[in-house]
Amino acid sequence: MDHNLLDILVCPLCKGELLYKKDAQELICRFDKLAYPIRDDIPVMLEEEARKVAAEELD
Ligand SMILES: [Zn+2]
Repeated sequence: MDHNLLDILVCPLCKGELLYKKDAQELICRFDKLAYPIRDDIPVMLEEEARKVAAEELD
């Protein structure tokens, strides 16, 4: 995914920065503990599409 795009993407809920998990193709918000999916290189920044992540995943 385009890293310039990553720089401007923030969590839609808390406006915080996101962690890009390349293997999982997800963008993770540590604060909300949500993982937003990246589908066909397009980040889906919707709370209802996001997956809840466990604290152990936020290393
Ligand atoms: Zn957030």
